[in-house]
Amino acid sequence: MNIADLFKQKKVIYSLEVFPPKKTSALDTVYTTLAGIQDIPADFVSVTYGAGGSNTQKSKTGEIAGFIKEKYKFEPVAHLTCIGASREDIRQTLEELKTKGIRNVLALRGDRNPEVTTPSAFRYASELTAYIKELDPEINIAGACYPECHGECNSLEEDIEHLKEKVAAGASHLISQLFFDNDCFYDFREKVEAAGIQVPIQAGIMPIVNKNQIEKIVTLCGASLPKRFVRVINRYADSPEALRDAGIAYATDQIINLLASGVRGIHLYTMNNMEIACRIDANIRSLIDSANQGNQ
Ligand code: FAD
Repeated sequence: MNIADLFKQKKVIYSLEVFPPKKTSALDTVYTTLAGIQDIPADFVSVTYGAGGSNTQKSKTGEIAGFIKEKYKFEPVAHLTCIGASREDIRQTLEELKTKGIRNVLALRGDRNPEVTTPSAFRYASELTAYIKELDPEINIAGACYPECHGECNSLEEDIEHLKEKVAAGASHLISQLFFDNDCFYDFREKVEAAGIQVPIQAGIMPIVNKNQIEKIVTLCGASLPKRFVRVINRYADSPEALRDAGIAYATDQIINLLASGVRGIHLYTMNNMEIACRIDANIRSLIDSANQGNQ
């Protein structure tokens, strides 16, 4: 199933993101996650690609996406990054994905990884997107976007200009970086529309369910933390169960608000935590079904 076609059929697309286990964990851990989320009626499940194109991680992406295609009803979307990759590396990866029946990719520049120093054939995701389209015009390509501006860009306006290039190169829809303040997303959506970008945007939501996540996430993606969110975190920081419940409630509330505001999709960063994914799905399923009624 081509995800671009799904956007034509449904008002709201719901997807989940999983990641290959770290070098030290067995691949089985992600298979356990997949078994745990198999009853969620997600439109697709995306599989991340090792930071900086790290070799140990990248081969796992195709393997896990292929497993999803074979075993589950979910459509897999394979993330594909170009940092440290040659044109031939990308060609081979696409070939491997095609063999496994994977016809949707999320084309990314990739996070920088100090361990990977090999030169890259592509500087930006837009260049990668254009190359993928050249090799395989039928494959569907999604791209990433940043409601609070990408960390390396000077202004949101400039970042949106670059986003325009990515869409022109062939990205059929966009998935946003996580955010905790829905107003940032709404402002971004307005600016994107004003810039003439018309592809659907899925909102990236990450439930915060433990204290360690917060520092890491804020350092990595610079998401702003609304007072309401900080109050919740501070209040329950030392009570793991309460923090988990409060984090699920906060993410649910964000999603309800986004759905009411006509968002075209929700992309849940599951952190491979099936319990959290299932609880959030139970909270919002009827809302998504209601938005899609008569459109399936
Ligand atoms: P780009 O779109 O290339 O943008 C990168 C920077 O370059 C931006 O600042 C942009 O403004 C600038 N830029 C773009 N075009 C130009 C131009 N023509 N001239 C000058 N500047 C330009 N990382 C991973 O390693 N693996 C993953 O699996 C992964 N999955 C992700 C999933 C989602 C939904 C998101 C939002 C991010 C993900 N990332 C992942 C992180 C991502 O790789 C990083 O944020 C990376 O730094 C940027 O990737 P990009 O594809 O957005 O880059």
